[in-house]
Amino acid sequence: MDQGNSQNGVPATWVGHGGAAAFDLRSDTQTTPTVAMLSAISVTTLDDDVYNEDKTTIDLEAHVAALAGKEAALFVLSGTMGNQLALRSLLVQPPHSVLCDHRSHIIRYEAGGVASLSQAMIEAVVPRNGIHLTLDDVKEHACVGDNVHDCPTRVISLENTLGGMVMPLEEVRRISAWAREHGIRMHCDGARLWEVVASGAGSLAEFAECFDTVNLCFSKGLGAPIGSIIVGPKDIIRHSRWMRKSIGGGLRQSGVVTAAARVAVDVTFGAGPNGEGGLLKESHATAKRVEKLWTEMGGKMLYPVHTNMLWLDLESMGCSGDRFTELGAQRGLKLSGSRIITHYQVGEEAVQKLTEVFQQVAAERNAPPTLGPKHANDAGVHVYKA
Ligand SMILES: *Cc1c(COP(=O)(O)O)cnc(C)c1O
Repeated sequence: MDQGNSQNGVPATWVGHGGAAAFDLRSDTQTTPTVAMLSAISVTTLDDDVYNEDKTTIDLEAHVAALAGKEAALFVLSGTMGNQLALRSLLVQPPHSVLCDHRSHIIRYEAGGVASLSQAMIEAVVPRNGIHLTLDDVKEHACVGDNVHDCPTRVISLENTLGGMVMPLEEVRRISAWAREHGIRMHCDGARLWEVVASGAGSLAEFAECFDTVNLCFSKGLGAPIGSIIVGPKDIIRHSRWMRKSIGGGLRQSGVVTAAARVAVDVTFGAGPNGEGGLLKESHATAKRVEKLWTEMGGKMLYPVHTNMLWLDLESMGCSGDRFTELGAQRGLKLSGSRIITHYQVGEEAVQKLTEVFQQVAAERNAPPTLGPKHANDAGVHVYKA
């Protein structure tokens, strides 16, 4: 096995084959399984999880349930599967609706699963503060009466982080208390809740206490190859296990994936309940450093940096998303326009290359290149401002 390139500032054992993830800043999904994860897979248990006999899987579920202070947990193949099963198990029957932020993964990136699997209507809310929903937003849009014209809100689904930004514990608590008063159930799309905890905003258990169910991803910033987990009350998780089977998500020798997920929790998130000893905090510090580089050059940000995700206002530097991506590619960096994720496998060498990209953006802003024949047809795409 290629142990990765320790020259890029990341220990070789943190990156899988070739260390390509160290130069891929498009998404934290581009993290690759570590040597420790691959080793754990090679010695994992090989029992049947549909029979509920695989110890590695049972232990992982018990461990994450305990971390979150919940009764039970269920390993699932993806975050989408986790969200959709949790919502299906919290909802009963129409008429019913789910209230969420208008940018939520559950409505934008899950192929309409809430409609097809749960037959629920979505109440998509634009947060007034532009960053996260507040209780005021929720109260204004939730439907709590029994008027026959209305579609009652049965679940409030909050995403944390959303766009890398943290919804503060205090606001989550306010919304949760109000929801419980009104018999509305709470789901958290916590694909990146690990990052929230690593940022110091509260513990997993403190956040999870506000929700009936929480979905947590192993294959984003934690670096596992596959999988997510949902935590919640026994009866809900039991129902989700049943539903998981119905959509073909019952797993046989699940140890080959849950062994890697366990390493992701213990090593990447960290052994302590607040991610103590983990590797995420450092990725947040890298993001802050990159933000400083950009803003000191005069660049603006589209959103604040709370974790390891940055949203560069490329237009503020007169650069298009395509040009920015191209400048990265010329230096062996994978970028995708304005969003950058400095996941924990992004090394020092990548930050250096990114600095060069920023410098080039600044240089082109000051001296816009004349559009030669190659660019003559796509002048509208490359917007240069003096
Ligand atoms: C990635 C992600 C998911 C799950 O995505 P899958 O690709 O299905 O694992 C869910 N919610 C959010 C906010 C995400 O970022």
